[in-house]
Amino acid sequence: MTAFDTVFTGARLIDGSVSDIGVSGGRIASISAAGSGQAALDIVDLGGALVVPGFVEGHIHLDTSFYGDSWVPHRPCTNGFDVHERVAFQAQNIAKAAPMDVRARKQLDLCIANGCTSMRSHVMVDGSVGLKSLETVLAVREEYRDLIDIQLVAFPQSGILKSPGTPDLLDEAMSLGADLVGGLDPASFDRDVERHLDVVFGVAEKHGAGVDIHLHDAGTLGLFTIEQICARTRVLSMGGHVAISHAYALGDLTPDAAKRAAVMLFESGVSIMTNAPGNHAFPPVALLRAEGVTVFSGSDNIRDSWWPYGDGDMLSRAMMIGYRSGFYTDDELRAAFDVVTVAGAKALRLEGYGLEVGDKADFVTLKAEHIPVAVVSVPKERSVYKAGRLIARDGAVLRG
Ligand SMILES: [Zn+2]
Repeated sequence: MTAFDTVFTGARLIDGSVSDIGVSGGRIASISAAGSGQAALDIVDLGGALVVPGFVEGHIHLDTSFYGDSWVPHRPCTNGFDVHERVAFQAQNIAKAAPMDVRARKQLDLCIANGCTSMRSHVMVDGSVGLKSLETVLAVREEYRDLIDIQLVAFPQSGILKSPGTPDLLDEAMSLGADLVGGLDPASFDRDVERHLDVVFGVAEKHGAGVDIHLHDAGTLGLFTIEQICARTRVLSMGGHVAISHAYALGDLTPDAAKRAAVMLFESGVSIMTNAPGNHAFPPVALLRAEGVTVFSGSDNIRDSWWPYGDGDMLSRAMMIGYRSGFYTDDELRAAFDVVTVAGAKALRLEGYGLEVGDKADFVTLKAEHIPVAVVSVPKERSVYKAGRLIARDGAVLRG
């Protein structure tokens, strides 16, 4: 009989059954009835803990968080929310902060300890910082390659048309190792939707890369931009490779209009990222999912110049999505969980995600009877496995 590298016994699966999971070469090689006595070099008794796939952190900013650094009190905008002013505050705060690599590591440790095994981070690439932030985060990504899979979005935080040199910098960023091209409020920030999207999709097409655009614009302006992004995605046959982050406008629409937008998003293959922000209308998660739209989530800002919240815990984020969406039934709670796991993996196009034979052995154990209770109770006692190896337990990353 072939011995597995590791057999995890007493694994409670999502369907409630208790099984033994055999892992070889970092992948799930077998799932068999509990007590089937599979041979292995190492046996780990999970004691009936719930086993779920690693959480997908679909939108975070590794370069701008102050998590683990000195507390930076939030400074309100002087005359209502203004992205330009917030970007200026951010530059002032970062100038006084610990080095970016130190802060990025602290944020990564936080996310990994909470069970995140894959992530998409936006990193500033624009005329204000050039490629410096990306170079720093690329080096940190390399350090963490055995702990977490990280996609990087070249993010023009200071605009594309408003920030000289940014189109060329985005192009260089992709050659340097960024995975996707970002964008930022093409209408309200750069005041030119078409020229902004020309650059974003132009660079993406040149490099065969995906797109993930920050879109805060509300109401009809936001919806118009969403329509333009969908149209380009269809023309370029980029369905499945394009995401819109925030898309607050979808939360401003009547149910009929939201349904039409959802059909358009689904038919275009554009996914939607929401972090269920506290003070905004946000996309109707259930309505979008009902029309087949991939809705995923992320922490977005963790203790940065935009807001002081965030704990890097995607299970807690699932709870927030459910809470703000009015999800009460078990099916709805499972939907909130899906947003931070399977749907996130679909949006990020992760290979080998899940808990089937052949999938990567990236999983989290939770002290919970089942998914609905995990979403409402957010148990913090957990172990995190990457490629079948224990990498974090109860809030701390294990090294060595
Ligand atoms: Zn963001």
